[in-house]
Amino acid sequence: MILLKQLLKRLDEIAPLAIAEEWDNVGLLVGDPDSEIHRVMTCLTITQATVSEAIAKRVDCIVVHHPIPFKPISQITTSTSTGRYLWQLASNEIAVYSPHTAWDNARFGINQKLAEFFQLEDIRPMVPLKSEIVNRISSLVPAEDLRLIGTGRIGTVTKDETISMIISGIHEMIHKPRIERNQSLITKVNRIAFVCGSGGSFANAAKKAGADLLITGEATYHQFLEASNLGLGLITFGHYPSEAGAMRVLSDMLCESFPELQVWRSHDETDAYCTEI
Ligand SMILES: [Zn+2]
Repeated sequence: MILLKQLLKRLDEIAPLAIAEEWDNVGLLVGDPDSEIHRVMTCLTITQATVSEAIAKRVDCIVVHHPIPFKPISQITTSTSTGRYLWQLASNEIAVYSPHTAWDNARFGINQKLAEFFQLEDIRPMVPLKSEIVNRISSLVPAEDLRLIGTGRIGTVTKDETISMIISGIHEMIHKPRIERNQSLITKVNRIAFVCGSGGSFANAAKKAGADLLITGEATYHQFLEASNLGLGLITFGHYPSEAGAMRVLSDMLCESFPELQVWRSHDETDAYCTEI
């Protein structure tokens, strides 16, 4: 018999909540840690599709990347989509856990995986952890892992890479990426920074960390302009494509840790963007 609290403990080992960004709302957001669990589903976002799949397949806990609720709410009623999802989930005794930026920043988390896919050398956090967080988690995390936890990742390419080679690499990594890039004079790339999701605001941090290219999920028009002003290359390939694969990685890790549980990545979740235009 597996209790929800055992799953929570394992999730905190994989992506310690203490390394999430301060503004985030992570951890167990709905549920009873003492409840028994059999079926766990991972997904990127709570939508009607993922809620309906969880109910139909009698899921006990959803591990969702994006927190719900994210900001404090005053009512849980069906008059808003957030209230409707929470009401449906709680009524069906489905717990909700979100690791969000703890999973982005983790030793083997989303940004680490992106940097490893491009076979970068000397991969390290683009923005290291603050010293007070290092102190708080130093007893929980091996010392050699501590320096590999933080916001984003930066690394050095191992062979000559051009922007077009990097874009081919994104096509190899992701089925149908939605690629946009800025007007940048950069042709050769030496150091690349990765920030999954909405990372357009990290142009300055990427430049400061020594990157000449930032690859992220999405950015605004003005963030593309800002990157060009900094002399930084900026490539986006879609918020969903930049993070969705990591929820399969997480479900595989949980499967391995708990062979008694049924764990899967949502089958019904899709990107909010339609690529068939
Ligand atoms: Zn995201």
